[in-house]
Order: sequence, then C-alpha cells, then structure tokens
Amino acid sequence: MSALFWRENPSRRSAISSSYPPVPMRALQLVSDRRIEARDIAPPPPPGVGEVTLRIRAVALNHIDVWGWRGMAFAKRKLPLTIGAEASGTVTALGDGVTGLNVGDTVAIYGARTCGHCRACREGRDNLCENVEGVHGFHLDGFAREFANMTARLLVRAPDGVDATAAALAPVTFGTVEHMLFDNARLEPGETILVHAGGSGIGTAAIQVAKSIGCTVITTVGSADKVAKAAALGADHVINYREDRFEGMVRRLTGKKGVDVVFEHVGADTWAGSMLSMKKGGRLVTCGSTSGVSAPMNLMQLFQQQLRIIGSFGCRIDNLRGAMARMASGAVHPVIDTVAGLDGIDAALARLESRDVFGKIVLTLD
Ligand SMILES: [Zn+2]
Repeated sequence: MSALFWRENPSRRSAISSSYPPVPMRALQLVSDRRIEARDIAPPPPPGVGEVTLRIRAVALNHIDVWGWRGMAFAKRKLPLTIGAEASGTVTALGDGVTGLNVGDTVAIYGARTCGHCRACREGRDNLCENVEGVHGFHLDGFAREFANMTARLLVRAPDGVDATAAALAPVTFGTVEHMLFDNARLEPGETILVHAGGSGIGTAAIQVAKSIGCTVITTVGSADKVAKAAALGADHVINYREDRFEGMVRRLTGKKGVDVVFEHVGADTWAGSMLSMKKGGRLVTCGSTSGVSAPMNLMQLFQQQLRIIGSFGCRIDNLRGAMARMASGAVHPVIDTVAGLDGIDAALARLESRDVFGKIVLTLD
C-alpha cells in the first residue's frame, strides 16, 4: 500500500484529522538499506504514567536521516525502524502524573530517550545521559508516524507565535545550534564566527542566531544562488568555496587575524582550512562530518595557537526552550527548503544527500 493511497482516501483523511489514533495508522519505516516504505502499524496504547499521546505534526529531516538511510553497520538497531529524529506534535491525551502540559498543546520532542535520573540528566544535560537508550529514528523508532506516546519530561511546549513547523526545528536544528554556540563555544556578542555550509539547515540557523546577538558572520556556500540567500539571512560575508579558498578569504576579511569561533559540521573537506581560519585562542565547535569522518591535524598548530576543539552532539532539553523563545521573539525564523507529505521521503532524502538544499526539508502530517 502506498502513501499516495492514504492521501486520496477520504475516510482515511478524516481519521488522520481526529484526535484518536486510527487503526491501523501509517508510518514510514526503513526496511533495509536505502529502502523506506509507508506501512500500516498498530497505534499506541493509552498513555502510561508520565506519558502523553501525541499526534505528530511535522518531521524535519537531518543528515542523521541520510546516515540512517544509507545503512550504518555499527549502529545497534533492528529493522524495520520508523524514521524521523526531529519533530513536533500536538498533545491528544495525558497519562497519570503529567503536569505542565494540556491536550491541544503543540510541543517540540527531544530527539533521544534519556533516563532522567543519572547525574547528567539531573543536571539538565540529557545529551550526556549515562543510560541513554538511543536516538529516535536512528537507534529507536522515530516520529514519521501519525501518533506516538512520549515521556512528558522530554517534551517542550511551543510558546505563542511558534507553529508546528517551527517547533519541529527546535530539537535538532536550532537546539543543536544553541548548544554549540552558547554552551560549548561560549560565543559572545561582537565576536566573529565562520559558519560552514550556510545553506544547510543548521547553517541557516547558526547565521541567524549569531547575528541575533550581534556577531560578525562569515559563511561558506557552494553555489552562486546561495550567496544571495545567505546574505539575505544576515551573513556579513559569504564565500563561494567552489570559487575561493575559504581560509584565505577569512584571513583577508579579518585582517590576517582569523575568527574567534568556527562552526564546523562538514569535516574532512574543510577541517584543515577551519584550523587555519581561527585566531590565536580561537574555538572550533563541531557537530558533524558530512564530507567524511577522518582528517589529519597539525598538533603544533593546535598547541602553539592555543586552539580549542569542542565536539557537540544533540543538546540539552533547555536548549529547545531557548530556541523557541528566540523564534517567538522574531530574532530567528525557520528557513524551509521544501515541505512534502510522507510520500515525498525518497525525493527528500536524495535532495538532502546531494546538498542541493537551502534550509530544511520538512515532512508534514497535517
Ligand atoms: Zn540519564
């Protein structure tokens, strides 16, 4: 049965728009490497203690979905697996003991299942949980399904002015950026930052967040049309890395000093240039390696220049609040490349893998 069938079946549509899980409900499941199918699965039971039932509204795609789709031999997981790591939902039912959420609330969903009681979780640093069960959509079933039961502790209510699409970008896209820039790189107003791949989802977020606190932003893009788009987001300087060596341009733009902070997620292709782009005492924060996981490093440069390299993965739950507060204030906005239905998943992943995007690809279940 194809996703298209559901879209064209009126009785099915009415079921989807109700607050009660249809039986069965639809989900996008990875069944083997590079093969995702729309399937019928059982709806969730009534929510347990501390849980709520969510009607999933929007699922934003990230590079982790591409990794998962290609197949990760070392990842512990069982197929079929429901995909989708970053999403928002509407609360449709509350389990016993849930406080602070109401039926009808739009929520952003934290992307990993953490224990809530280890030292890291108690300190609010869930992305360092000692007993983490895994990342949704990658190790555990994800959110590309009509309904899901989730632990209320891992949900953050969207404030007024933040719709379901924007809330879907809080857990990974904007949350990761908040965590990288502020918790890890300690970015300060007035500093200069190099944001790699300014047309990527997190690139479009990082440009806006850094500008919102008064930083000078230099960004790289891979095509002429993205130069204008990145500048329109507020970037002060946009480098087309296919035409110019970015590290040379960065040194020229900073009077040979280099930047305070490099925002890395490209990896192998950019690592050496990123190291050369920092000023003495500069900080490099990285959350990805889309071009490859290994890069040589000049250790003499590392210690003589007193550089700091910080790995970052996921975010704290509170970063979701920070991200949505910044959206609600109007300081940042989601940059959407494509909105598609669940049946658009194959084209969406191919587009993401090709890097032919500017901003986010979002699958909507509305
Ligand atoms: Zn924990």
